[in-house]
Amino acid sequence: MIKQKRNGELIIISGTTCAGKGTVIGELLKRNDNLTLAISYTSRQMRAGEVEGVDYKFISHEEFEKKIENGDFLEYAKVRYGEYFGTPKEEVNELLKTGKDVILEIDVQGAQQIKEKFPETILIFIMAPSMTEVKRRIKARGKENNEQIIDRFKTAYKEINEINKYNYVVVNDEVENAVTKIEAILISEKCRVDRIEEISVENEEEIIHEFLVEKEFDNTPFTLEMEKND
Ligand code: 5GP
Repeated sequence: MIKQKRNGELIIISGTTCAGKGTVIGELLKRNDNLTLAISYTSRQMRAGEVEGVDYKFISHEEFEKKIENGDFLEYAKVRYGEYFGTPKEEVNELLKTGKDVILEIDVQGAQQIKEKFPETILIFIMAPSMTEVKRRIKARGKENNEQIIDRFKTAYKEINEINKYNYVVVNDEVENAVTKIEAILISEKCRVDRIEEISVENEEEIIHEFLVEKEFDNTPFTLEMEKND
Protein backbone atom coordinates (compact mmCIF):
# COMPACT_ATOMS: atom_id res chain seq x y z
CA MET A 1 0.00 0.00 0.00
CA ILE A 2 2.90 2.33 0.69
CA LYS A 3 5.44 2.85 -2.03
CA GLN A 4 8.76 4.23 -0.80
CA LYS A 5 10.85 6.39 -3.13
CA ARG A 6 13.07 4.32 -5.43
CA ASN A 7 16.21 6.31 -4.59
CA GLY A 8 17.81 6.05 -1.18
CA GLU A 9 18.13 8.93 1.26
CA LEU A 10 21.23 10.96 2.06
CA ILE A 11 22.26 10.81 5.71
CA ILE A 12 25.01 13.04 7.07
CA ILE A 13 26.79 11.98 10.21
CA SER A 14 29.16 14.55 11.66
CA GLY A 15 30.60 14.77 15.11
CA THR A 16 33.18 16.23 17.38
CA THR A 17 36.61 14.74 17.66
CA CYS A 18 36.71 11.44 19.58
CA ALA A 19 32.91 11.21 19.57
CA GLY A 20 33.25 7.67 18.28
CA LYS A 21 31.64 8.36 14.88
CA GLY A 22 33.62 5.63 13.15
CA THR A 23 32.59 2.93 15.63
CA VAL A 24 28.94 3.98 15.56
CA ILE A 25 28.87 4.06 11.74
CA GLY A 26 30.61 0.67 11.57
CA GLU A 27 27.96 -0.86 13.83
CA LEU A 28 25.12 0.77 11.85
CA LEU A 29 26.49 -0.69 8.61
CA LYS A 30 26.89 -4.13 10.16
CA ARG A 31 23.29 -4.21 11.34
CA ASN A 32 21.48 -2.54 8.43
CA ASP A 33 21.80 -3.94 4.91
CA ASN A 34 19.95 -0.94 3.48
CA LEU A 35 22.73 1.42 4.61
CA THR A 36 25.97 2.12 2.82
CA LEU A 37 28.85 4.55 3.34
CA ALA A 38 30.21 6.87 0.66
CA ILE A 39 34.01 6.89 0.50
CA SER A 40 35.39 10.44 0.40
CA TYR A 41 38.42 11.73 -1.46
CA THR A 42 41.17 13.47 0.48
CA SER A 43 44.48 15.14 -0.20
CA ARG A 44 45.82 14.32 3.26
CA GLN A 45 48.47 11.68 3.84
CA MET A 46 47.36 8.12 4.50
CA ARG A 47 47.88 7.18 8.18
CA ALA A 48 49.23 3.89 9.45
CA GLY A 49 46.48 1.28 9.37
CA GLU A 50 44.37 3.12 6.78
CA VAL A 51 43.42 1.38 3.56
CA GLU A 52 43.13 3.04 0.14
CA GLY A 53 39.51 2.97 -1.06
CA VAL A 54 38.23 1.87 2.36
CA ASP A 55 39.01 4.83 4.64
CA TYR A 56 39.41 7.35 1.83
CA LYS A 57 40.51 7.63 -1.76
CA PHE A 58 43.86 9.30 -1.31
CA ILE A 59 44.90 11.71 -4.07
CA SER A 60 47.34 14.61 -4.36
CA HIS A 61 46.48 18.27 -3.79
CA GLU A 62 46.75 18.86 -7.54
CA GLU A 63 44.52 15.93 -8.44
CA PHE A 64 41.96 17.15 -5.92
CA GLU A 65 41.95 20.65 -7.40
CA LYS A 66 41.51 19.20 -10.88
CA LYS A 67 38.47 17.30 -9.63
CA ILE A 68 37.07 20.52 -8.13
CA GLU A 69 37.46 22.19 -11.55
CA ASN A 70 35.69 19.26 -13.22
CA GLY A 71 32.76 19.60 -10.79
CA ASP A 72 33.32 16.06 -9.51
CA PHE A 73 32.27 16.79 -5.90
CA LEU A 74 28.86 17.10 -4.28
CA GLU A 75 30.70 19.12 -1.63
CA TYR A 76 34.27 19.63 -0.54
CA ALA A 77 36.09 21.56 2.17
CA LYS A 78 39.52 22.23 3.58
CA VAL A 79 39.01 20.53 6.90
CA ARG A 80 42.33 20.54 8.75
CA TYR A 81 45.87 21.76 8.01
CA GLY A 82 44.75 22.97 4.59
CA GLU A 83 43.93 19.44 3.41
CA TYR A 84 40.96 18.82 1.17
CA PHE A 85 38.14 16.36 1.85
CA GLY A 86 35.30 15.85 -0.64
CA THR A 87 32.26 13.73 -1.43
CA PRO A 88 32.30 12.29 -4.96
CA LYS A 89 29.18 13.18 -6.97
CA GLU A 90 29.00 10.25 -9.36
CA GLU A 91 29.70 7.50 -6.82
CA VAL A 92 27.04 8.84 -4.43
CA ASN A 93 24.44 9.16 -7.22
CA GLU A 94 25.12 5.56 -8.27
CA LEU A 95 24.72 4.36 -4.65
CA LEU A 96 21.44 6.29 -4.22
CA LYS A 97 20.08 4.74 -7.44
CA THR A 98 20.48 1.26 -5.91
CA GLY A 99 17.85 2.32 -3.35
CA LYS A 100 20.26 2.17 -0.44
CA ASP A 101 20.47 5.00 2.07
CA VAL A 102 23.90 6.61 1.84
CA ILE A 103 25.83 7.84 4.88
CA LEU A 104 28.23 10.74 4.38
CA GLU A 105 30.69 11.08 7.24
CA ILE A 106 31.66 14.69 6.69
CA ASP A 107 32.42 17.87 8.63
CA VAL A 108 30.13 20.81 9.42
CA GLN A 109 31.20 22.85 6.35
CA GLY A 110 30.37 19.96 4.03
CA ALA A 111 27.09 19.29 5.85
CA GLN A 112 26.03 22.91 5.25
CA GLN A 113 26.80 22.64 1.51
CA ILE A 114 24.82 19.39 1.15
CA LYS A 115 21.89 20.80 3.15
CA GLU A 116 21.67 23.79 0.79
CA LYS A 117 21.68 21.56 -2.31
CA PHE A 118 19.52 18.74 -0.90
CA PRO A 119 17.30 20.08 1.91
CA GLU A 120 15.71 16.66 2.46
CA THR A 121 19.04 15.26 3.76
CA ILE A 122 18.92 13.81 7.28
CA LEU A 123 21.61 15.52 9.37
CA ILE A 124 22.81 13.83 12.56
CA PHE A 125 25.47 15.18 14.91
CA ILE A 126 27.25 12.79 17.28
CA MET A 127 28.76 14.12 20.49
CA ALA A 128 30.95 12.61 23.17
CA PRO A 129 29.27 12.73 26.60
CA SER A 130 31.59 15.59 27.72
CA MET A 131 34.74 17.42 26.68
CA THR A 132 36.47 15.90 29.72
CA GLU A 133 35.72 12.51 28.20
CA VAL A 134 37.12 13.76 24.86
CA LYS A 135 40.32 14.79 26.66
CA ARG A 136 40.53 11.32 28.21
CA ARG A 137 40.01 9.63 24.82
CA ILE A 138 42.64 11.82 23.08
CA LYS A 139 45.18 11.06 25.83
CA ALA A 140 44.40 7.34 25.64
CA ARG A 141 44.97 7.41 21.88
CA GLY A 142 48.28 9.20 22.43
CA LYS A 143 48.86 9.71 18.70
CA GLU A 144 49.15 13.49 18.45
CA ASN A 145 51.32 16.34 19.70
CA ASN A 146 50.00 19.22 21.86
CA GLU A 147 49.49 21.55 18.92
CA GLN A 148 47.37 18.98 17.07
CA ILE A 149 45.33 18.23 20.21
CA ILE A 150 44.62 21.93 20.83
CA ASP A 151 43.57 22.25 17.19
CA ARG A 152 41.16 19.33 17.64
CA PHE A 153 39.60 20.97 20.71
CA LYS A 154 39.20 24.33 18.94
CA THR A 155 37.50 22.65 15.97
CA ALA A 156 35.25 20.66 18.32
CA TYR A 157 34.03 23.78 20.15
CA LYS A 158 33.46 25.56 16.80
CA GLU A 159 31.47 22.58 15.50
CA ILE A 160 29.31 22.37 18.62
CA ASN A 161 28.33 26.01 17.99
CA GLU A 162 26.98 24.95 14.58
CA ILE A 163 24.80 22.16 15.93
CA ASN A 164 21.60 24.03 15.02
CA LYS A 165 22.34 23.21 11.36
CA TYR A 166 21.56 19.56 12.16
CA ASN A 167 18.22 17.80 12.63
CA TYR A 168 19.34 15.46 15.41
CA VAL A 169 22.01 15.24 18.08
CA VAL A 170 23.03 11.88 19.53
CA VAL A 171 25.30 11.57 22.56
CA ASN A 172 27.60 8.59 22.24
CA ASP A 173 27.81 7.50 25.86
CA GLU A 174 27.48 3.81 24.92
CA VAL A 175 27.80 2.66 21.31
CA GLU A 176 24.71 0.45 21.67
CA ASN A 177 22.60 3.43 22.83
CA ALA A 178 23.87 5.71 20.09
CA VAL A 179 23.25 3.11 17.37
CA THR A 180 19.74 2.38 18.66
CA LYS A 181 18.93 6.09 18.66
CA ILE A 182 20.16 6.55 15.09
CA GLU A 183 18.19 3.49 13.94
CA ALA A 184 15.08 5.01 15.58
CA ILE A 185 15.71 8.33 13.81
CA LEU A 186 16.01 6.57 10.45
CA ILE A 187 12.85 4.50 11.00
CA SER A 188 10.89 7.67 11.88
CA GLU A 189 12.29 9.56 8.90
CA LYS A 190 11.21 6.73 6.56
CA CYS A 191 7.62 7.07 7.84
CA ARG A 192 7.44 10.79 7.03
CA VAL A 193 4.71 11.49 4.50
CA ASP A 194 7.04 13.64 2.41
CA ARG A 195 9.45 10.71 2.01
CA ILE A 196 6.76 8.41 0.65
CA GLU A 197 6.25 8.38 -3.11
CA GLU A 198 2.73 7.03 -3.18
CA ILE A 199 0.05 5.66 -0.88
CA SER A 200 -2.46 3.49 -2.70
CA VAL A 201 -5.58 2.02 -1.13
CA GLU A 202 -8.28 -0.21 -2.60
CA ASN A 203 -11.08 1.53 -4.53
CA GLU A 204 -13.62 3.06 -2.12
CA GLU A 205 -16.80 2.05 -4.05
CA GLU A 206 -15.59 -1.50 -4.56
CA ILE A 207 -14.81 -1.93 -0.88
CA ILE A 208 -18.25 -0.59 0.15
CA HIS A 209 -19.98 -2.73 -2.47
CA GLU A 210 -18.14 -5.85 -1.29
CA PHE A 211 -19.04 -5.04 2.26
CA LEU A 212 -22.75 -4.73 1.42
CA VAL A 213 -22.90 -7.85 -0.79
CA GLU A 214 -20.81 -10.12 1.37
CA LYS A 215 -22.37 -8.96 4.64
CA GLU A 216 -19.07 -9.66 6.35
CA PHE A 217 -20.24 -7.88 9.44
CA ASP A 218 -23.59 -9.67 9.70
CA ASN A 219 -24.21 -10.08 13.42
CA THR A 220 -27.38 -12.21 13.26
CA PRO A 221 -25.88 -15.27 15.01
CA PHE A 222 -24.87 -13.11 17.89
CA THR A 223 -28.41 -11.68 18.20
CA LEU A 224 -29.90 -15.22 18.11
CA GLU A 225 -27.53 -16.32 20.85
CA MET A 226 -28.70 -13.42 22.94
CA GLU A 227 -32.36 -14.32 22.39
CA LYS A 228 -31.77 -17.96 23.33
CA ASN A 229 -30.25 -16.94 26.62
CA ASP A 230 -33.20 -14.71 27.56
P1 5GP B 1 40.47 12.56 9.77
O1 5GP B 1 40.06 11.46 8.83
O2 5GP B 1 41.62 13.34 9.25
O3 5GP B 1 40.64 12.12 11.18
O4 5GP B 1 39.26 13.58 9.90
C1 5GP B 1 38.73 14.11 8.80
C2 5GP B 1 37.64 15.10 9.09
O5 5GP B 1 37.15 15.44 7.81
C3 5GP B 1 36.46 14.57 9.88
O6 5GP B 1 35.86 15.63 10.61
C4 5GP B 1 35.52 14.10 8.79
O7 5GP B 1 34.16 14.16 9.20
C5 5GP B 1 35.79 15.10 7.71
N1 5GP B 1 35.56 14.55 6.37
C6 5GP B 1 35.83 13.31 5.92
N2 5GP B 1 35.45 13.18 4.66
C7 5GP B 1 34.90 14.37 4.29
C8 5GP B 1 34.32 14.87 3.09
O8 5GP B 1 34.19 14.18 2.07
N3 5GP B 1 33.91 16.15 3.10
C9 5GP B 1 34.00 16.96 4.20
N4 5GP B 1 33.53 18.21 4.10
N5 5GP B 1 34.55 16.52 5.34
C10 5GP B 1 34.99 15.25 5.39
